[in-house]
Amino acid sequence: MTAPLRPGDPIIVNVALGERAYDIVIGRNELAALGARVSVLKPGAKAAIVTDDTVAGLHLKAAEAVLAAGGLATSCVMVAAGEGTKSFAGLERVCEALIAARVERGDLVVALGGGVVGDLAGFAASMVRRGLDYVQVPTTLLAQVDSSVGGKTAINSRHGKNLVGAFYQPILVVADTAVLDTLPPRQFRAGYAEVVKYGLLGDAGFFAWLEANVKDVFAGGAGREHAIATSCRMKAAIVACDERETSDRALLNLGHTFGHALEAAAGFSDRLLHGEAVALGMALAAEFSARLGVLAPEQAARATRHLAGAGLPVRLAAVAGGVPNADRLMDLMAQDKKVKRGRLTFILLRDIGAAYIAPDVDQALLRAFLVEKLDGQ
Ligand code: NAD
Repeated sequence: MTAPLRPGDPIIVNVALGERAYDIVIGRNELAALGARVSVLKPGAKAAIVTDDTVAGLHLKAAEAVLAAGGLATSCVMVAAGEGTKSFAGLERVCEALIAARVERGDLVVALGGGVVGDLAGFAASMVRRGLDYVQVPTTLLAQVDSSVGGKTAINSRHGKNLVGAFYQPILVVADTAVLDTLPPRQFRAGYAEVVKYGLLGDAGFFAWLEANVKDVFAGGAGREHAIATSCRMKAAIVACDERETSDRALLNLGHTFGHALEAAAGFSDRLLHGEAVALGMALAAEFSARLGVLAPEQAARATRHLAGAGLPVRLAAVAGGVPNADRLMDLMAQDKKVKRGRLTFILLRDIGAAYIAPDVDQALLRAFLVEKLDGQ
């Protein structure tokens, strides 16, 4: 546990995982305290910062300086920005670079970047020297509310997203909300989809709060910190109950079965960012829930309206370059990790704030739904 360095300042959320427990520290300019926090956890360690070439230009110097001020020697492993880096080749490069930098067992990996860097650096940390401690310093909204928390690390396979990976928890997460000021608006919106996800899946009050405060979240006021902390608290609680996704952690996949198929169809490219795919996936999940008669149509419309109002895609026609036909989408969904013995598991909604796991969705109904959505593009 790390104590707040300035009383009452950052928000600290603990991920209660016994001997693998750690804190998520959330606050404006919290990067400045990174060195002090890390030196308490890993005195005298060397810190290998893994980052991408975009984030490096914006935040690497500051990260190096605060780690050095905390008495930690640093080295840097730079990867190319973008989803393409979450590959076997990218993983090999990071592992070899960490070994070349003589990172030892007691040293530390610092993942400075978005979800791509976090997933890749975390996975490399799980393997190099059979496991190095790592700290997540997420620099996108998506990474601050989702990917940096919970210990899922992975790379993509040619068959689909995140199919090769490990559960491997960080020892600390530092989410400096000020670093989001340099994030392109499209990336911020994509991250906001994951924030909305928490409201939709388990907290109707938070969803209503987002409806009322979305502007403040985007503008960077206190609402942004509240939204990030609320998201992290929910994720931390779910992960603490089900670290390895044997039950309720699957609820966090709301929008992801549709979303991953759409991302794969778009070639994991800038045509559709991960968060955009999740937004579209959540809109489809809400509408499919209404189609099955489990969600009131007006609640499905409310979910979709909020996503669209935040500038997120909610229609298949919004995917640049188009999407493949229903059969191909079904094939892509069948590659998803949520498939169990050939049965497609979906996360559906009974209400805003009440998601449930639907373990055996009727494939014919799903296909008909997709055909209709594709026709109505
Ligand atoms: P990303 O890491 O590709 O970052 C998006 C872009 O923003 C990149 O070009 C990056 O260089 C740039 N960037 C990052 N921080 C910036 C900043 N502060 N200012 C300016 N530019 C900045 O993408 P992402 O959306 O953060 O993460 C998506 C990835 O996260 C996907 O691979 C997805 O599978 C993964 N993910 C993992 C989990 C998990 O539990 N591990 C959960 C959700 C998503």
